[in-house]
Amino acid sequence: MELRVAGFLDNSMVNGEGLRSVLFLSGCRRRCPGCQNTDMQDFKYGESVSAEEIFNRIKSNVPIIKGVTFSGGDPLEQAEGLINISKEIKKLGLNIWCYTGYTYEEILKEKDSNKLELLKYIDVLVDGEFKAELTENAPKYAGSSNQRIIRLK
Ligand code: SF4
Repeated sequence: MELRVAGFLDNSMVNGEGLRSVLFLSGCRRRCPGCQNTDMQDFKYGESVSAEEIFNRIKSNVPIIKGVTFSGGDPLEQAEGLINISKEIKKLGLNIWCYTGYTYEEILKEKDSNKLELLKYIDVLVDGEFKAELTENAPKYAGSSNQRIIRLK
């Protein structure tokens, strides 16, 4: 399966706790004023990359990294493609953080089977739209104070 990838960081300290690889997925239906990644809102932005290639890139950073972060764009828009990658990431003993414009409650209410399946593998969900007027007092690793760092595990 191919995913539309906007970018990849082999190791980052600012996209979740500890040293992490970061996968940026293309496509987001929201238009948050002040969005830092407007290019990545486009579902055609970036390049198509196979799940296998993505996983191998992640694996090449083991054992340096502590986990993997899905960002974007909105990773949940490509939830189906992320499920198998996530299963393999967990087998490596890595934790998974995921940023999304959806709130946790919206995901549960929508009952999309792929999004719900993906949630099973996510350790930490950073949820909700970015609100430029709420950047003060934002939790560490979040962009605005309405966003929550939800530890699902
Ligand atoms: S949810 Fe994130 S990527 Fe999507 S428009 Fe808002 S800030 Fe940008």
